[in-house]
Amino acid sequence: MSNELSAQDLLPPEIGLTLLGFEKSEQGWLVCAEGRTRSECPSCRTQSTARHSRYWGQLQDLPVQGKRVALQLRLSRWQCRNRECEQAIFRERLGELEPHERSYHNEIQNCPA
Ligand SMILES: [Zn+2]
Repeated sequence: MSNELSAQDLLPPEIGLTLLGFEKSEQGWLVCAEGRTRSECPSCRTQSTARHSRYWGQLQDLPVQGKRVALQLRLSRWQCRNRECEQAIFRERLGELEPHERSYHNEIQNCPA
């Protein structure tokens, strides 16, 4: 028998997220995940591993493999180290999965770990 779910079952596969924890709630699955360990500057395309700060963003009702998933994402702001670049700090980009800015917060509310 398998009630066990893996990260692959609950995380959208196309972005490199790291699963932090998950639990089943009445609404579906609540999943906490962390963003990438490096990010590309949107202005100059330089890869940065210099983390500036962290924040959380929430995505609701993500359909992942037929399950309803609410995703709490721990994301980063990065510093661009290219001295010729005007973009000093940039946010991690997740493409279509970008959480709405209104959902950003500094503290996690309920992260299953
Ligand atoms: Zn840059």
